[in-house]
Amino acid sequence: MAKRKSTPRPYNAWTMSESELRSYIMSWLREKSRWWKPKTKAVARARVRKGVYKCEECWAEWPWKLPPLPWKKRKRNNADADHIESVIPVEGFQEDSNTFLWYDWTEVIRRLFVEEDWYKTLCYNCHSKKTKAENTERRKNKK
Ligand SMILES: [Zn+2]
Repeated sequence: MAKRKSTPRPYNAWTMSESELRSYIMSWLREKSRWWKPKTKAVARARVRKGVYKCEECWAEWPWKLPPLPWKKRKRNNADADHIESVIPVEGFQEDSNTFLWYDWTEVIRRLFVEEDWYKTLCYNCHSKKTKAENTERRKNKK
């Protein structure tokens, strides 16, 4: 399929669109939050024994990894610390907030680097359910 030429790419020496720069910055921020101590502690809290974790939503005990999806290589994480308050608010950012690339970064950073109580360790199924519900909510709020 021919690439659309109409997307403006004003960033990174005219190679990146607004949304590409936004994901570029977000992936860096998320990478920095990977070994954030409160997050590590939230996962440790859910540990039952070696390789077994208790989901803090369905309260079932699960092996900590699941086999990869058929079309993917990586094993799926079955004990993942989820932000109780999603990093990107489902209701969108406040109208009067100061944004760049349509994100209020002060708010994003505040929500990303939270303390232990703001994490819930979820199994793969509970985590995907929550993510799906949030995305549905986001789409509704966009209209
Ligand atoms: Zn669960």
